[in-house]
Amino acid sequence: MEIFDLTIHELHGKLKAKEVSAVEATGAMLARIEAVEPKVGSFITVTPEQALADAEAADRRIAAGEADVLTGIPLALKDIFLTEGIRTTCGSRMLHNFIPPYSATSWERLRERGAVLLGKLNQDEFAMGSSNESSAFGICRNPWDLTRIPGGSSGGSAAAIAARQAIATLGTDTGGSIRQPASHCGCVGLKPTYGRVSRYGVIAYASSLDQVGPLTRDVTDCAIMLGAVAGHDPKDSTSVDTPVPDYVAALSGDIKGLRIGLPGEYFIAGLDPDVQAAMDRAIENYRRLGAEFVDISLPHTDYAVATYYLIATAEASSNLARYDGVRFGHRSPQAGGLIEMMTRSRSEGFGAEVKRRIMLGTYALSSGYYDAYYLKAQKVRTLIMQDFIQAFEGVDVILTPVAPTPAFRIGEKVNDPLQMYLSDIFTIPVNLAGTCAIAVPAGLSASGLPIGMQLIGKPFGEETILRAAHAFEQATEWHTKRAPL
Ligand code: GLN
Repeated sequence: MEIFDLTIHELHGKLKAKEVSAVEATGAMLARIEAVEPKVGSFITVTPEQALADAEAADRRIAAGEADVLTGIPLALKDIFLTEGIRTTCGSRMLHNFIPPYSATSWERLRERGAVLLGKLNQDEFAMGSSNESSAFGICRNPWDLTRIPGGSSGGSAAAIAARQAIATLGTDTGGSIRQPASHCGCVGLKPTYGRVSRYGVIAYASSLDQVGPLTRDVTDCAIMLGAVAGHDPKDSTSVDTPVPDYVAALSGDIKGLRIGLPGEYFIAGLDPDVQAAMDRAIENYRRLGAEFVDISLPHTDYAVATYYLIATAEASSNLARYDGVRFGHRSPQAGGLIEMMTRSRSEGFGAEVKRRIMLGTYALSSGYYDAYYLKAQKVRTLIMQDFIQAFEGVDVILTPVAPTPAFRIGEKVNDPLQMYLSDIFTIPVNLAGTCAIAVPAGLSASGLPIGMQLIGKPFGEETILRAAHAFEQATEWHTKRAPL
């Protein structure tokens, strides 16, 4: 097996046994990036010098006998994470030349453990999208089928793993942006409970929904990455001060008696038959492993997408006000006065989808419409939260598909925003409820495209969903399948 095919825990074994050095491993990754990047487009910025310097430092640590499981592991970050001294664009022309003066806490934590930074990954502009097509830095393709989207908004974070250009990556998830691309690219992706991971130094989209999380090749790697980034951060007032469990130790393999809920609202008639078949097989697998199934209802599911697109756009319109050519962002060179300068800068810097959302959000917050839209959406959000609280009285986890179909074709939905929004129907409710969920590979469609299963957990129930996902992984081979690239 090539170095770029390995998981974190496998590569760690080789580094520790001195079968390979961190510099060699990093060199292999950089060569792989160079070889496949013209086809895939996962990266916005590759950082070879930084990577080799990090790798040399990691080798010194390994030689001194101080190797941690993440020391010398080549990773890459969605370009939404601030990286000191390294350009961070958030997929937008607005930030095409932005060099942050400090780094995101989540990346700092990985760095402290000796991880190696390969570069910054492609994404939808300001994390708004489900296909990576709103990026200002070119198309990112699905390594399983280069005519298809990798998912979004963390499209590059998933494609880079499927194309074996990084061992693991970080993404962010506001309405599904970790889980949906993970599902479309055949990787594992986890959206932690709101407050579990610091968002300091992560460019804000919708602050009551945004969370940082890992995308990896298997569940063990996911547990390793989550353990490294989770925990209280005094610099993020929304990060919660509860102890971080040993997520790897939680992977006991034992799920006998685990109660799994199946929400009727998620297994609808229009579900793609290949997705339905994969879920049926997954349920069968879990039964064999000793889990029990309970039919449950999440009655307000139908309202989730509409609620999300009011709350997320309202928060985005406020968060994106800072890009005015003065405080942050592109400044138009040809403007007479201040107002003209700000108008031009925003018109030139933002793409069409971002503009659409700023307008929707500004409208929802405007006086006269606030009660009818934003306030109403907040109330429905509470009902959606209560659906989950009630469901979790009778079950330990909830099993659903991640997305209604496998990856769609590039261009297929780009001119129909509503169709694009509806593709997140199974992931959005989790963000509105603030709880955690994991996407794991659970099948391939007739045409060979990955299909993901979602396991939703109780708030701060990451150990349980990881344990359930790991037991499934041990009993199946989907996580060992590789994109034909
Ligand atoms: N696709 C959803 C959106 O466009 C979710 C994006 C995300 O989670 N960042 O808002």
